[in-house]
Amino acid sequence: MPGTGRTYYIAGAGIAGMTLALALAKFGAAVVILERGLTVSEFGAGLQVSPNARKILNNLGVGDAISARSLEPDGIDIYPHGRPVPLVTLELGAIMQARFGAPYAVMHRADLADALYKACRRFANIDIVFGVRNWDVVSHARGITVSIDEANGQTRTGRGHAFIGADGVHSRTRTDIIGGPPARYTQSAAWRTLLQAPAVKDKLPLDRVSVFLARDVHAVAYPLPHRGQVNLALFAPQRNPSDKGERPTLPNSIASWPLLSAILETASDWTSWPLYTVDTPLWHAGNIGIVGDAAHAMVPFQAQGAAMGIEDAAVLAPLLIAESNAETAFEKYHQRRRRRTARAASVSAANGRIFHMPWPLSVARNTVIALQGSRGHLRRLAWLYGYEP
Ligand SMILES: Cc1cc2nc3c(=O)[nH]c(=O)nc-3n(C[C@H](O)[C@H](O)[C@H](O)COP(=O)(O)OP(=O)(O)OC[C@H]3O[C@@H](n4cnc5c(N)ncnc54)[C@H](O)[C@@H]3O)c2cc1C
Repeated sequence: MPGTGRTYYIAGAGIAGMTLALALAKFGAAVVILERGLTVSEFGAGLQVSPNARKILNNLGVGDAISARSLEPDGIDIYPHGRPVPLVTLELGAIMQARFGAPYAVMHRADLADALYKACRRFANIDIVFGVRNWDVVSHARGITVSIDEANGQTRTGRGHAFIGADGVHSRTRTDIIGGPPARYTQSAAWRTLLQAPAVKDKLPLDRVSVFLARDVHAVAYPLPHRGQVNLALFAPQRNPSDKGERPTLPNSIASWPLLSAILETASDWTSWPLYTVDTPLWHAGNIGIVGDAAHAMVPFQAQGAAMGIEDAAVLAPLLIAESNAETAFEKYHQRRRRRTARAASVSAANGRIFHMPWPLSVARNTVIALQGSRGHLRRLAWLYGYEP
């Protein structure tokens, strides 16, 4: 194949960047990742890894590391406002493997980042440069030229076949290099915390995901048994991204919901994460492209942002290797990915509206959820979970 001896530069050692590095390195290409952090990022807490992403990660040799540090939940309990017991439990567990060829797992984000990092370290042809202060890249007829300000203050220059920005929602590659738009603030935030499992074991089942729906607010909890903790994320309106307080401000109605109130009482050390989305028609310019949140950050209400970045990597890597021209590879990648990522973003946004419905719309919503039953999501989301890149 033409691309096996080439060098690719990637900005960002996040989930999308490291997955792309692995996918390229498997073909024998050389990869240099430029990461501004001093280590792989541990931001966030829990992450749901759905079968569409897991199949790709399994093919890249990270499946065992994920199995060792994740839980395959039996189901998702849905609690509409006020309920002490679930309205319905959406089935996960063995049926996910049987229907979609891989399990549905939940884990700590740092454990997935660590598994990807260790897998990258096993490839001599992947070089991760941490603490990069700045970089510049220029596309030209035969590839790209990068200049890198390293952590030690030295500048070095490199040449490669293509440059890929996996530099997250506020991607400099998107805004400064290929001329795309800034991220859009959604006026909402994710509040995240880790609960100690013994403190909530009488309130929450520790073998499944729990989702609590209320007007303007919803919460998602799932166990991280390898850490003895439960991940809790609460999604609420936040007018300005800088309006961070110590704790989320909740509508009064939550106080009249004993189950959720009791769970929230066990929480401390909240971290607020303002939610942004990215909608850009430009995914590349010349031999420079973008993947992951840099290209299509979405609200996390279908738990698919990282999964979409993983899929991007699985589609883009073979194209970059097979095509003699990187621009052609980026064009084909954009064509293959834009509708699917837009659909995932649209389903995620719709979930937000459905989860946060006020009464009496919430009554109709609950009827539909109950009618769809414990397996309705398997049909409704088959296009998502059954994807083969
Ligand atoms: C509350 C919440 C829950 C979520 N839950 C899920 C879930 O369950 N499942 C799921 O699939 N997704 C989930 N997501 C979405 C997921 O977290 C993101 O989509 C995913 O992390 C994006 O990965 P990325 O690699 O594209 O970007 P990032 O993870 O943001 O990584 C970008 C990397 O680039 C580096 N960087 C940035 N700028 C530069 C620069 N200029 N130069 C060099 N390096 C740079 C950063 O330091 C970072 O390491 C959730 C998101 C939130 C907020």
